[in-house]
Amino acid sequence: MIEHELADAANAFATLDLAEPLLRGIAKAGFETPTPVQAAVLPVALQGRDLMAAAATGSGKTAAFLLPIMQRLLDEPAPRAGTRALVLVPTRELASQVLDHFHAVASYTRLTAAVIVGGEPRNHQVNALRRNPEILIATPGRLLEHLDTGEADLTDVRFIVLDEADRMLDMGLVEEVVAILNHAPGERQSLLFSATLHRRGIIELADYLLKDPVSITLDHPRTAHPHIDHQIILSDDAAHKAAQLQRLLTAAEFDRALVFANTRAGAEQAGAKLVAAGVRAVVLHGELDQRERKRVMALFRAGTVSVLVASDVAARGLDVPGTELVVNLDVPRSGDDYLHRSGRTGRAGRRGLAVSLVSAPEWNRMESIERYLGISVERAVIDGLKARFQGPPKRSKPAKKVVKKVVKKLAAKRGANAADGAADKPKLKERLRERKNIGKRRKPSAKPAAGQGVDAGFEPPKRRG
Ligand code: AMP
Repeated sequence: MIEHELADAANAFATLDLAEPLLRGIAKAGFETPTPVQAAVLPVALQGRDLMAAAATGSGKTAAFLLPIMQRLLDEPAPRAGTRALVLVPTRELASQVLDHFHAVASYTRLTAAVIVGGEPRNHQVNALRRNPEILIATPGRLLEHLDTGEADLTDVRFIVLDEADRMLDMGLVEEVVAILNHAPGERQSLLFSATLHRRGIIELADYLLKDPVSITLDHPRTAHPHIDHQIILSDDAAHKAAQLQRLLTAAEFDRALVFANTRAGAEQAGAKLVAAGVRAVVLHGELDQRERKRVMALFRAGTVSVLVASDVAARGLDVPGTELVVNLDVPRSGDDYLHRSGRTGRAGRRGLAVSLVSAPEWNRMESIERYLGISVERAVIDGLKARFQGPPKRSKPAKKVVKKVVKKLAAKRGANAADGAADKPKLKERLRERKNIGKRRKPSAKPAAGQGVDAGFEPPKRRG
């Protein structure tokens, strides 16, 4: 892209008061207009306020927290400081997505980031920590291990993000999260993102993490259509899905069905298999020229074929009355895509059915979509094609109770430490970079604020409010 195009592309973001290197990075990443979440979050976060935002995967939430943090890091350069921003995420995959996102928009800045997640060699991570990355993206368990050994240090952290907080609760990561927060100074800006703010335990966690937060829930057309029933069918792999799809389309009674795949290739393959199995199906994808597209749609509208296999892009704005069944061959990338796909049925007062085939790697995404949209989804099974995968094991403890219990337990532990006197207090570990004389030296005054540091007495969760 040439220079003036870069400037044009960044225009819609320019009103948001972002520095030129960031605007260039945004344009390079191909972002032209802020998503609704970004438009709502950025101004608040740039003011330095704590916030909690309802935002699911696909909403642009990652840039919504990365950009203001990066802006503030650029505003206040601190070359001798350690890590200044911490992004806690529930899974390794999400950590690497956040890092990719960072790289996509950071290429014109000198900001650095590192990922600390479980399942990877510790010594590489120790090396990464020694380089004092400005932004640390981490899963709680492994970061806590590095904090316990003194390899990681959060005393310079001024920004904390809790991403996908609802999933953290689901995965039972609260205890680790609370313990990590106690390693960071109280003077900081904290941002919490969750697919929904209504999940049990979120408010307790927010109370603990945030100080006088702004709550952002977008007025969003995400109320699922009342005339649609939602089902999931568990699947093992692509071949299993193909068999299930074929059975669904031959056994179910419907006039017209729409099948969605996440990619053009997926749509083409599925269409070809269906046709080979004798199903009257056509494929619609973004690469078809206008004439082809018209022809395909005419066949479907007239009922000459009863199944249309489509990719999301191709199906934008599609309205075919009498579509009674929507099948998600792949779980859509976002809640909004799910809404868009399922909304092709259940129109004009008629009932519709949306069925999603869900394999193990797609489970979490489907769950966050359900939460985001607040829909109730029924599990269905196809006789003779039941999946070996039956979903992850259930976690039974209610999250709200878990948060309270964790907070209480930590309070008791810290109370006991304080009562035992200074001699029994856990010593603040010497920071690795001090031992190695790397990076900033600790100033005598650089100890954590009261109530937040590792050696400070524990105070009740609302102490920051
Ligand atoms: P996220 O919800 O953060 O996982 O982002 C979902 C996808 O949207 C990612 O592929 C981003 O690269 C993309 N994205 C984020 N912000 C924008 C934007 N303003 N314009 C276009 N795409 C975006």
